[in-house]
Amino acid sequence: MENCLFCKIVNGTLPAHIVYSDETLTAFKDIHPQAPVHILIIPKQHVDNLAGISKEMTPVISRIPEVATVLAKEYGIDKTGFRLLTNSGSDGGQTVYHLHFHLMGGKPLGPKLVKD
Ligand code: 5GP
Ligand code: ZN
Repeated sequence: MENCLFCKIVNGTLPAHIVYSDETLTAFKDIHPQAPVHILIIPKQHVDNLAGISKEMTPVISRIPEVATVLAKEYGIDKTGFRLLTNSGSDGGQTVYHLHFHLMGGKPLGPKLVKD
């Protein structure tokens, strides 16, 4: 999709530190990491967020936890623990409208899910 930051990363017109890529998913380091390990896992095909996924895309999206676990092992946070989350829509706190899952770890992240 034109003017989508993450589509630009997928098609190589915007540089990113890519840490994983297969036919349908890619993962790269977050530009403003909130934790020692902060990776974004995205489908290569553009979809705005969870609310937009089609039935055809469901098998692709379903593989994200598996990729997250592979990366967690690779980055040595599988034993200490990690968080995998997606923000969907404005109340969800989404700022980039290409579906992405944050994989974070490497320090205690605390229980907080909602802003005060
Ligand atoms: P959201 O707030 O939509 O859940 O998360 C968007 C994430 O994308 C943020 O953590 C932000 O730091 C990251 N981000 C925004 N622009 C870029 C970029 O150009 N490159 C990379 N690697 N990450 C980005
Ligand atoms: Zn996109």
